[in-house]
Amino acid sequence: MPVAIDDIKSLLAYYQALGFDHLPLAAGETGSCRTGVDTGQQGRLFELREYIGDCRRCKLSGHRKKIVFGAGSPCAKLMFIGEAPGKEEDMQGLPFVGDAGMLLTKLIVKMGMNREDVYIANIVKCRPPMNRDPEDDEIAACRGFVEQQISIIRPRVIMTLGRIALQALMGDPKLKITSSRGHFFDFGGIPVMPTFHPAYLLRNPQDKVLTWSDAQKAIARLGMPPGR
Ligand code: SF4
Repeated sequence: MPVAIDDIKSLLAYYQALGFDHLPLAAGETGSCRTGVDTGQQGRLFELREYIGDCRRCKLSGHRKKIVFGAGSPCAKLMFIGEAPGKEEDMQGLPFVGDAGMLLTKLIVKMGMNREDVYIANIVKCRPPMNRDPEDDEIAACRGFVEQQISIIRPRVIMTLGRIALQALMGDPKLKITSSRGHFFDFGGIPVMPTFHPAYLLRNPQDKVLTWSDAQKAIARLGMPPGR
């Protein structure tokens, strides 16, 4: 299925923002990677994006402006996974670029990294109308793509943002964010630290301290200094 021109423009802007001066066309191509050795992840992510194409696999396709594939280092040690794009993300084709995105960026910097050092994606790649929660059939249609991103990047730690991302990634709709956050889960051998969604923290700033506590556990698992 052909990729829409707007999506190609978003992709080019995304790769340019990451500092790439050429397109990673070959799956096995080894390229630059800020956070480690790229053993072909860059090319495989590009191939996955091409495979997704102008996706119509679920009903969210009828409402979106742009598919929000994901952004960041293809060999990131830390990966953040949210639930779905919002209004700003839908317009720009990039994840976490609104107010919640600014808060996430602050958290990443406080953890001693930059956005370009981590990888950020969502469970579903198209914006649900009126920012409603993604529905089960939409998650089922799209979840495989983020699983492939995880499989390509192989981060050492994943942080899920909010209840929906946790439930969808772990395949357990009974999980509660309040009792799950702060405790590591396992996804195919990768430690998963659930924490609050930044949009929730904007409404409940008193809980930022809890997210920072979760982030410190992720930092420790990565073997990094305890943040700023
Ligand atoms: S949410 Fe995922 S499965 Fe649904 S149309 Fe968008 S990319 Fe395709």
